[in-house]
Amino acid sequence: MHVRNGASPVSERYDVAIIGGGPSGSYAAALLASGGHSVVVVEKKQDTGIIPCCTGVVGTAYAELVGLEPDVIISSAMSATFVSPFGRQFQVASPHPQALVLDRALLERRLLRRAAMAGADVHTGVVVVGIERNSAGFELRMAGDSRGKSIMSRSIVVAAGVNPGMTGRLELGAVQHYMVGAHAEIEMDGVSETEIYMLQQEARGLFAWLVPTGNHTVRAGVLSHRAAAGFLRRFLDRAAVRSRLRNGQIQVSQRPVPVAALGCTYADGLIVIGDAAGHVKPTTGGGLYFGAIAARAGVEVLSDALKRDDVSSARLSRFEREWKREFGSELQRGSRVRSLYGRLSPERVDAVIGWMAESDLVDRMIQSPSFSFDRHSGALMTGLMRGLMGQLVRPHSPAGGGAA
Ligand SMILES: Cc1cc2nc3c(=O)[nH]c(=O)nc-3n(C[C@H](O)[C@H](O)[C@H](O)COP(=O)(O)OP(=O)(O)OC[C@H]3O[C@@H](n4cnc5c(N)ncnc54)[C@H](O)[C@@H]3O)c2cc1C
Repeated sequence: MHVRNGASPVSERYDVAIIGGGPSGSYAAALLASGGHSVVVVEKKQDTGIIPCCTGVVGTAYAELVGLEPDVIISSAMSATFVSPFGRQFQVASPHPQALVLDRALLERRLLRRAAMAGADVHTGVVVVGIERNSAGFELRMAGDSRGKSIMSRSIVVAAGVNPGMTGRLELGAVQHYMVGAHAEIEMDGVSETEIYMLQQEARGLFAWLVPTGNHTVRAGVLSHRAAAGFLRRFLDRAAVRSRLRNGQIQVSQRPVPVAALGCTYADGLIVIGDAAGHVKPTTGGGLYFGAIAARAGVEVLSDALKRDDVSSARLSRFEREWKREFGSELQRGSRVRSLYGRLSPERVDAVIGWMAESDLVDRMIQSPSFSFDRHSGALMTGLMRGLMGQLVRPHSPAGGGAA
């Protein structure tokens, strides 16, 4: 395995340099290297084992696509309970496991190791600070211990996570809409299934979650338009949560979550994948699955372009058509759901959850063979609209009469 810390001066010119060894970049690297291309991955983190700011919940389709080893999967989930701003509850249950909870740090290490085993050169602890074009392709400039050293490549894959500066300098613009996700690993009692809290009374569009990972450990998170870490601390301080906490010291991390795609995800010699391109579900902020689909589509197009010795933007434009065909409409519908949810008052959200608890619509949708954990925005929109219409015929009476 060729994992190196720091970049050595490189005389070889790679077919592809991948900037970012997160889940999207390392998955792409393994596929490209397996296809016979010379590949280098440059990853800024020294230790890819540190706890990532991510809950690590994916649909079963992600495990199939990426071919996850069983030890990366901590557990599977068949149900979740939604809690309205006024404490009304609604349980969603499926006869089959819909979601998997992953050992997120192990996932990152495994994907990076796979890239190295497939033949990619992997440099960790190295930051790309400059990308210059030349007649032969690109020259990447490094910082830190590798200052002054560079890597040459015919093409690049930008997989550097949310990075408007980098895509801006490459003249691709920046993702226009972000939310912020906050994450904490905590110890709690009495969390036996995923709990999702709609916190519209604190901020429009805000929601929080608790995901059990076994042995009293729980991943807590929030997605909000701002100040996510503060909202997460406040959420963990609510009586219904605090009373179940086992530990007092809680480390909270936060980072931006793109909720719209980059306007253009290719140019001469390069493609952009994963969070860097906004390949993320706008409803939940989940990006592992769409990032992997984009990586696979990008690899197919780039590999073909390299074999033809034509990495022009005209040839690479097929990448954007491919990922849009796979999940472009899901991103658009998801944005509409997010925008509608963001406009609802806490009373409306409470009433919709109350309506869903009484109706069998959600059960029928989830049990239908066409339902997909990853392509849920159509079902969510139907549920929201039907719920809003259902509550119009009834006056609203908040459960418990006040915020939970
Ligand atoms: C609180 C929270 C919870 C989440 N929960 C889920 C979930 O349950 N399920 C899900 O599917 N998604 C979830 N996500 C989103 C998911 O984590 C991301 O979509 C996913 O990590 C994207 O992978 P990526 O490889 O595209 O980007 P990243 O994971 O951001 O990886 C990018 C990599 O590039 C490196 N890098 C950046 N700049 C440079 C540089 N200049 N030089 C070298 N390296 C560089 C970074 O160090 C990083 O390792 C969550 C996000 C948040 C914030």
